[in-house]
Amino acid sequence: ASAQEQDATEDAPDVENCVIIGSGPAGYTAAIYAGRANLRPLMFEGFQAGGVPGGQLMTTTEVENFPGFPEGVTGPDLMDKMRKQAERWGAVMHTEDVVTVDFTSRPFTVSSSDRTVKANSVIVATGATAKRLGIPAEATLWSRGISACAICDGASPIFKGEEVAVVGGGDTATEEAVYLTKYAKHVHLLVRGSTMRASKAMQDRVLQHKAITVHYNTECVDGSPNSKGNLGALKLRDTNNGDERQLKVKGLFYGIGHTPNSKIFGNQIELDEAGYVVVREGTRTSIEGVFSAGDLHDQEFRQAITAAGSGCMAAISVERYLTEKN
Ligand code: FAD
Repeated sequence: ASAQEQDATEDAPDVENCVIIGSGPAGYTAAIYAGRANLRPLMFEGFQAGGVPGGQLMTTTEVENFPGFPEGVTGPDLMDKMRKQAERWGAVMHTEDVVTVDFTSRPFTVSSSDRTVKANSVIVATGATAKRLGIPAEATLWSRGISACAICDGASPIFKGEEVAVVGGGDTATEEAVYLTKYAKHVHLLVRGSTMRASKAMQDRVLQHKAITVHYNTECVDGSPNSKGNLGALKLRDTNNGDERQLKVKGLFYGIGHTPNSKIFGNQIELDEAGYVVVREGTRTSIEGVFSAGDLHDQEFRQAITAAGSGCMAAISVERYLTEKN
């Protein structure tokens, strides 16, 4: 443990005011607000995304749409700034994954493999993980043409005026395909089955769009680099007869969904069918005193700024909740 962590452990109260689980934009923003409200929040940062704290943005390069950075900012740089801002306002950080929680009685109990703490309130902000295909090319071409977020990466100069592909046949994939036509010359939508699962309206939009070609019964099995070390082509397989062919594209976007990191809360807070935390009145969960922030409950927007916004809301709700209780 660092000297700061040791000091923090020595003056730790018996029951924390507020424990925050997760260190993406939602968790750090909650920590900044809770810290400024003198709650001395304790964070379990986790290190699931790439073995480091900071959440999904640690896996990307340029973030061009977070307000306040007209020239853009790298994901790791942005997260480092948020972390420092949270520390400045007194947040205590433990870079540990939470392994169990007990929300059945108050104070709540939150445990990592290194420690167990009691808390009067908890903000859960463990985010979501974009599903990947698991093709070999991801190891070398992730962020070099392969991406899980068209809104985040579509405007990159490497795709401008080029051909790109989107994997998936649901609403996310079809929306991404239409969105990408703003930048790319042509979009290939790769659908594994013989039909799309997207709404009829989205299917029609895609099928009528001149700059989109839908390839049914098609799965992407690998990708290969161009001379610059970015994605240059995909290896596709026909799911009916196994025939393989090449498709030259500069981008491959996954629209195959996300998995919310809600397993540890499973039988304690209400989740929807897909595993997202159910919230009401802003960020309240089914347990009084437990609040949710960010992609863990948001299937719709999934952006750093919306995650940060709900982190702010959760911390303000915590402050009001604790004031009412005292
Ligand atoms: P996350 O960022 O997912 O953070 C969750 C945190 O919880 C992580 O720190 C994780 O380690 C931690 N955690 C998980 N389980 C546990 C546990 N058991 N115990 C403790 N901690 C735990 N958005 C934009 O606005 N602009 C962009 O340019 C952009 N680019 C993106 C590029 C990529 C490749 C990806 C994947 C996403 C991008 N996004 C972008 C989306 C953005 O990253 C997310 O919307 C945002 O990070 C969600 O924030 P969050 O705090 O809810 O969760």
